[in-house]
Amino acid sequence: MHSSDNGFSKEHFRLLIDGKLPWEEVKKAIRLSPKDADRFKKYLEILQEKVPWEDPILLRISDHLYIVAKPGKGRIVKCDCGQEFGDYRINWKLGCRVYVRRTDEEIAEVITIPEARHNMDLVEMREFYCPGCYALLGVEVVPPGYPPIFEMLPDLDTFYREWLGNPLPDEDPAWFQDRTLERPAEWIKEA
Ligand SMILES: [Zn+2]
Repeated sequence: MHSSDNGFSKEHFRLLIDGKLPWEEVKKAIRLSPKDADRFKKYLEILQEKVPWEDPILLRISDHLYIVAKPGKGRIVKCDCGQEFGDYRINWKLGCRVYVRRTDEEIAEVITIPEARHNMDLVEMREFYCPGCYALLGVEVVPPGYPPIFEMLPDLDTFYREWLGNPLPDEDPAWFQDRTLERPAEWIKEA
């Protein structure tokens, strides 16, 4: 059955994305059967209306970050402020300003309950900020020297082809590869 806007309007979607949809309505949406076939498309349309740029959004990956189809540049990570982090197969954290907390005093600034603090002899806390808008994009607590955690490398082609039934025009198995190590290799060449 084709059911565009049958059970869940765009306005409901907007409220859901903003976290303002009443819980009763959220439950109704979860139980809705059949679900609107075009719900992901509608979701992307609303996201697109909220950002100040035109590059088509392929997937939202955090509160501020999106994978977009950038003409001439392929699939890149972009902040809602417009800052671009390059190829989405390279961990976007390598393009961030990073603040590292290494001492008990530094961790105490953000974790006020002493019992909840990490053992700073073992780990450090890294905060990743957007160089464009200084939004906090991610936090990780790891042993010193541990590589930045790559939080999400989605298989976009499988998602668009198998789940949405709408393959992307630039489909290629090479899109689903972690290329993070290429960035430091470039830095070495530049040095
Ligand atoms: Zn930003």
